[in-house]
Amino acid sequence: MPPIHVIGGGLAGSEAAWQIAKAGFDVVLHEMRPVRKTEAHQTDGLAELVCSNSFRSDDSEQNAVGLIHHELRQLGSLIMACADANQVPAGSALAVDRHGFSDAVTKALEEHPRITISRDEVAGLPPEDWEKVIIATGPLTSPALSEAVLAKSGEDALAFFDAIAPIVHFDSIDLDKAWFQSRYDKVGPGGTGKDYLNCPLDKQQYEAFIDALIEGDTADFKEWEENTPYFDGCLPIEVMAARGRETLRHGPMKPMGLTNAHNPDVKAYAVVQLRQDNALGTLYNMVGFQTKLKYGAQGDIFKMIPGLENAQFARLGGLHRNTFLNSPKVLDDTLRLKADPRLRFAGQITGCEGYVESASVGCMAGLFAVMEAKGQDIITPPQTTAMGALLGHITGGHISRDDGAGKPRSFQPMNVNFGLFPLVEAPTKDADGKRIKGKEKSKAKKLAMTQRAKTDFAAWQAQIGPVREAAE
Ligand code: FAD
Repeated sequence: MPPIHVIGGGLAGSEAAWQIAKAGFDVVLHEMRPVRKTEAHQTDGLAELVCSNSFRSDDSEQNAVGLIHHELRQLGSLIMACADANQVPAGSALAVDRHGFSDAVTKALEEHPRITISRDEVAGLPPEDWEKVIIATGPLTSPALSEAVLAKSGEDALAFFDAIAPIVHFDSIDLDKAWFQSRYDKVGPGGTGKDYLNCPLDKQQYEAFIDALIEGDTADFKEWEENTPYFDGCLPIEVMAARGRETLRHGPMKPMGLTNAHNPDVKAYAVVQLRQDNALGTLYNMVGFQTKLKYGAQGDIFKMIPGLENAQFARLGGLHRNTFLNSPKVLDDTLRLKADPRLRFAGQITGCEGYVESASVGCMAGLFAVMEAKGQDIITPPQTTAMGALLGHITGGHISRDDGAGKPRSFQPMNVNFGLFPLVEAPTKDADGKRIKGKEKSKAKKLAMTQRAKTDFAAWQAQIGPVREAAE
């Protein structure tokens, strides 16, 4: 059987190659470094961590990323094995010695008899005689390849510089202060006239908020990002605030067409709107609130907004260069490009965000390629698992309703989080029959979700078990 080609030896490509080789198939892993560098990578090592050295929380009971750690470990992940072997102290997080980690991944892949590592740039669509290909070239995919994929997928934009707005867990919003209403009660396609959540600010609160934004600590741009143009209509809010104290009140925070349902007689001076972000209705994004404020500053400043005092963020805002596919549109359920199904995608280019998420999509892509090579039906993990939830986000879990201005909603990269999982019934009383409240309630809900995920993941793994046996 001809080898499976994996392009990109980052977090996703390394894991994909490992899963394929472990199942007994030959792999050629193409990595362009050091022949061609990226703007962020510093070394020639595979699975280089370009920024932080943290794989985030390792708590698989209360944290969705910890749950992905668990699922990856269950699948014999190379990325997790090398991370575990190169841990540095970091509380409940899993942080690694970045060089030790990358060296371990590189060594394991170099030494595997079924893996050939080719240090070359794939500068265009892969040759026709490569029957099965996984493209895992990350957010800094070389232009020659990204342009070729763009042309093949028929999409208008593949590589761009994007600004993202924070996303809030619905159940952390104070509905005694926020209310549902669309501006001027307008009913959009599929809407109800109550599609937005609105948080009101009075004059004093608005002025204090603008001061905080202007004084807020913003992320430094890297040298190579300095020439990055902002998207039209996508200016960071702190940049808008710095242009004039009233700019936001005439832009994303305008109060027109909205009546505070909790206090109809008092007109809000400014309003922050949040819009449903996923089909489950568990996540809401802050409309027009793209920002490059540092994460710590975002938490402090956005909690000044009435109704968001206890907000829990599924994703904070950010402004950085990012290359990703409009995956729900161009990929099928098993990550193959609809326009050319021999090409499967993995990692951040599919619209997941983060090291662990990228590795997990690489892991799934590797397993799906193996199932396909063996002529088996491809069985995807259920949406109740962390990997299944992430796959659902990538391949179509996101809603794509109209944004009210006639523009289609855009697909945005996301870290794994509990908002991507279907809701779960959690116990409401403790062992003594006392009602569970506050933080304990939230903990009970997360535990119920992770327990369900672990049970369902084990069942899926038992189902797909044979793909992990060596091929003939
Ligand atoms: P990568 O790890 O980037 O791997 C892609 C590989 O493909 C690279 O090795 C590249 O050289 C290679 N390649 C590209 N084009 C070609 C080609 N045509 N032919 C052959 N090889 C090619 N995530 C976090 O979790 N924490 C962070 O702190 C963090 N910081 C980040 C900072 C920056 C500046 C950027 C850009 C991203 C950051 N991320 C962070 C996101 C991070 O990139 C991803 O989480 C993760 O590295 C993506 O994994 P990947 O395998 O998809 O891509």
